[in-house]
Amino acid sequence: MEVIFDRGVYLPELDLWLDALRKQDTSVISHAHSDHIARHRRPILTPGTRRLLGDYLSRSEPVELDYGETLDFQDCTITLYPAGHCLGSAQTLVTRRSNGERLLYTGDLRTQPSPINEPLQPVPCDTLVIESTYGRPDYVFPPQEEAIATARKVIAQWLEQGALPVVLGWRLGKAQEALHHLSSAGFKVACEETVYDIARKYEAAGVEFGGDYRIFDGSVRDGEVLLFPPGKKARETVNRHRPDRRPVRYLELTGWAAGNGVRPWGRGRPGDASLPYSDHADFNDLLAYVPAVQPRQVYTVFGFPDLAERLRRMGYAASHLGKNATPADRAYQMPLW
Ligand SMILES: [Zn+2]
Repeated sequence: MEVIFDRGVYLPELDLWLDALRKQDTSVISHAHSDHIARHRRPILTPGTRRLLGDYLSRSEPVELDYGETLDFQDCTITLYPAGHCLGSAQTLVTRRSNGERLLYTGDLRTQPSPINEPLQPVPCDTLVIESTYGRPDYVFPPQEEAIATARKVIAQWLEQGALPVVLGWRLGKAQEALHHLSSAGFKVACEETVYDIARKYEAAGVEFGGDYRIFDGSVRDGEVLLFPPGKKARETVNRHRPDRRPVRYLELTGWAAGNGVRPWGRGRPGDASLPYSDHADFNDLLAYVPAVQPRQVYTVFGFPDLAERLRRMGYAASHLGKNATPADRAYQMPLW
């Protein structure tokens, strides 16, 4: 099936967009992160994603699809499967009715288990369109339990030293996983407003965080850990409110910490401690997903072209679509069968 990447994935034979970044008549929205959404007239999405997007789609006519439910569209059917990345995140399987051909678009993908997400479900396909955010061999994460155990130790030390620990994680997904891990380790947590609001939406969808957490109201109680999205605003807010001018220590949870501190997209100032914990698959997870779904053709999107190069060396017809494509990728642009 022909695949074009142009600020989103486009299937011209079906006139179907997947995660288009410009408003379209019909597009699947794989999950609620801002680099995957637009105000389409008819977005196709899971109930979890719709819940998270709330008023953003107030002028749209959303088509909700539960995981595993099927929608007829043109000459194909569309089915969504869990992607393991955040609440509501979905892989999209497009099956052509005329010849049974199957294309799977992963959206953002996480293959390691998460305590609060629906686990990823591998879906066999003919054509695989897979994200390659961490599609470079530098990005191999340690086991999650290791990063979590280190985080607990570091935070406990900072509290003992009289410092104010602030954990930084993206407001949707990462922050709620951090909340789960902090709560189950017995820490009291005060969440920045948007992190808290999204946590409530997870709860409305049936996720339980347990533990003792609240919205950050400018005060800090004894023994409390703050949970904020990364960025300048977090540092400004925390500095304005820290009690007794206590020293503040930032702990950042990010996959970029795995690449020897190299941050290809220049994402802000690093924390006092940076731990490689991500809601994405790492390089090895991405490589392992390909044989698990047995495609004949692979396209990689977002991130690095290195994943496609490695897959070609492993014998797959693979190419990277988008800005970072190399001449070798372009040689593979035409479907091989
Ligand atoms: Zn995402």
